[in-house]
Amino acid sequence: MAPLHQLDELLDRAPCGFLTFRDDGTVAVVNRTLLDMLGYQREELVGRHVETVFSVGTRIFYQTHLFPLARLHGHAEEIFLLLRTKSGEEVGVFANVRRRDEDGHAVYDMALMQVRERQKYEEELLRARRTAEEAQRQLQDQAAELEATSDELLAANEELLARTEEAQRLQEVAEAASRAKTDFLAVMSHELRTPLNAISGYVQILEMGIQGPLTEAQRETLGRIDRAQHHLLRLINDLLNLSKLEAGGVDYRIEDVSLGELVNSVAPMVEPQLAEKQLKLSLEVPADLRARGDRDKLEQVLLNLLSNAVKFTPAGGSIVVGGARSHDRPDFVALSVTDTGIGIPPDKQDAVFEPFVQVDSAKTRGAQGTGLGLAISRDLARGMGGDLTVSSQLDVGSTFTVLLPAA
Ligand code: ADP
Repeated sequence: MAPLHQLDELLDRAPCGFLTFRDDGTVAVVNRTLLDMLGYQREELVGRHVETVFSVGTRIFYQTHLFPLARLHGHAEEIFLLLRTKSGEEVGVFANVRRRDEDGHAVYDMALMQVRERQKYEEELLRARRTAEEAQRQLQDQAAELEATSDELLAANEELLARTEEAQRLQEVAEAASRAKTDFLAVMSHELRTPLNAISGYVQILEMGIQGPLTEAQRETLGRIDRAQHHLLRLINDLLNLSKLEAGGVDYRIEDVSLGELVNSVAPMVEPQLAEKQLKLSLEVPADLRARGDRDKLEQVLLNLLSNAVKFTPAGGSIVVGGARSHDRPDFVALSVTDTGIGIPPDKQDAVFEPFVQVDSAKTRGAQGTGLGLAISRDLARGMGGDLTVSSQLDVGSTFTVLLPAA
């Protein structure tokens, strides 16, 4: 172990600055290394305030942090301080401070390690600050962008409002046009029926031979005129029905309807055609199945579905009328007409419910119709709070289902 005076010598020449200051801040001890670092003579510092060697920033830091910390905790470590040399240059140091007692007074020993790569630290600090500033700028940009976006949203909203108004206006125009069309159809249908009835009357007069006997060829021609007249009359009646439906001019008398009874009363109406084509009809509607609906309208729908099934099922086929609670919608009952007929191609299954749509194929061409029956039937079903749907497979058959609120 070195003698004490040698230790003083060693401390004086230690490879780091050393300084002791008292509670009042006056420097008691300063070693040679620190004096050399700062360009002071020992007598210029001893007895002076320790802040003499601090830069302005470090003085503030010393008063607010370093000294209170060292006094309170007895030590402070790895604190970066900027010292000021006598000639005014700044020197960066890392400082460790420790408090100890000397003759009943607190003194503070401070070891100061010069940071030669201060530049590096400062650059890092600068970089960090730039990053922070950049982040802040980005935040500001984003805020500005958000503001712009909200402006855009406002503009879009206005545009939307304008378009909604335009759409409403167009809808009103369309509704007016639709009303005009419906009115026109209704008037025309009435006007057409009068001369058609006259044609029918004159055909009958001729057939009766009141104006002289008819040849077989004439009788055949009259038959054709009569059939064409009937077809035209049916078309006009359907048109009238549809225009009434579209105008909302149909009144529904909604009541509890026994679907079993309904089917029993409609089935006989197609019996002649069934017999003619040798089709088998099975009625499988449970007797207690009841729905809410207008009995007459329901009869019309069912008759139309049965007529279609007969029309589009080749001789020898079969038709089943079934009824059950709906699987998907428990509050509804389903009345279905299934045939083993020609079926409807998938791309036409929506279209057949549109007015005047008939699936054109060699097989249907023979079947006379107006293409209005399904449009009318679906409107009626919907008017009763239900719907009419189809599922079909080409060359296998079709099932038309009337959905109605359960009783
Ligand atoms: P119409 O029977 O007077 O032609 P509909 O509106 O009742 O008019 O039917 C439209 C079209 O839907 C029919 O022309 C036919 O092509 C098709 N269709 C209707 N019912 C059936 C069915 N049961 N099987 C096959 N096709 C059908």
